[in-house]
Amino acid sequence: MSEKIQYIPIAQPWLGEAEAEAARRAILSGWVTQGPEVAAFEQEFATYVGANYACAVANCTTALHLALLAVGVKPEDEVITVSHSFIATANSIRYCGAIPVFVDIEPQTYNINPVLIEDAISERTRAIVLVHQMGMPCDLKSILEIAHCYELPVIEDAACAIASEILWDGQWEKIGKPHGDIACFSFHPRKVITTGDGGMITTNNPQWDEQFRLWRQHGMSVPDTLRHGAKQVIFESYPMLGYNYRMTDIQAAVGREQLKRLPEIVERRRYLAQRYHHQLADIPGLKLPTEPAWAKSNWQSYCVRLPESCDRQRVMQVMLDAGISTRRGIMCAHREPAYEVESWLCGSDLTESEQAQDHAMILPLFHQMTEQEQDCVVEVLKTVC
Ligand SMILES: *Cc1c(COP(=O)(O)O)cnc(C)c1O
Repeated sequence: MSEKIQYIPIAQPWLGEAEAEAARRAILSGWVTQGPEVAAFEQEFATYVGANYACAVANCTTALHLALLAVGVKPEDEVITVSHSFIATANSIRYCGAIPVFVDIEPQTYNINPVLIEDAISERTRAIVLVHQMGMPCDLKSILEIAHCYELPVIEDAACAIASEILWDGQWEKIGKPHGDIACFSFHPRKVITTGDGGMITTNNPQWDEQFRLWRQHGMSVPDTLRHGAKQVIFESYPMLGYNYRMTDIQAAVGREQLKRLPEIVERRRYLAQRYHHQLADIPGLKLPTEPAWAKSNWQSYCVRLPESCDRQRVMQVMLDAGISTRRGIMCAHREPAYEVESWLCGSDLTESEQAQDHAMILPLFHQMTEQEQDCVVEVLKTVC
């Protein structure tokens, strides 16, 4: 074999001249914090997902925090969610002084198991936070049915799920319409499109949207965009406790360009995911991710499950030695030192979550990945398995 030097990263954002030009435009405009670019990005994003309102914020973690506050989560309340997620999901609940109640996942989709939710509901339950994990839509229909029964608001952690779709009354709809009450998105570079850091909150409730806009800007009654250039002297006031959760206009300008690339990015990711499905299908014991008939993932991550007998760390090391970067699957918040007893509750047994954390592995998948690179990942994985 030739000693070819290669390195295949786990992910790579697709950024180019258009984004650089957009950032330049924002900088040279003289208005760099939340302003006209943010407003335009929000409009375009709302149109894209089909929501009435979209409010840009600093990242998805702040989006989740504000969503929980909007639906009225207070200290000592319980919020049902998954442990098997990026830790920010559970952290945002704790920011409200509330207690995450962890429910197990389905092993095939890595998403919350709707069957287990009802038993986790108590008198203190105030909301459900579901996660469209790695871009795969949750079983929203089943979850919303239970939520409506108990009159619980549903927040969608759609950090990874921009452009993912769900079959709704016979039509394919974008995640974030939203189907629950509020959906929260991330533009971190590990997600499908990026603004460096950034987040978006979508809802169809005008009061919540107004509330988000106040909270993200210190609870300020008159935003600086209105005071700036006003013909009259206006004084702002601070009627409530607010936060600084803003997105900058530089980020939003980049986001608007990323949004234009999104259809192409998703098409490519879906194509590469299909290729993985076909090429990995005959590896004995390897479990591939499954997509329910009513869901279309954006394939933010392509996660495979190794046989229990397999030493995952060794597999990952062999692949790294071959120049291929992999990651272990999603972690469980309840196993982290930050989640000692009393900061959370068990809504169900968490065996599937722990199994997934221990045996899942994420393979490289990104827009610029070539077929040859993908073949190489498959080849190395086949020899090591
Ligand atoms: C990335 C991620 C977040 C956090 O997003 P940030 O924009 O980095 O704050 C929250 N939840 C899930 C499921 C994520 O994957």
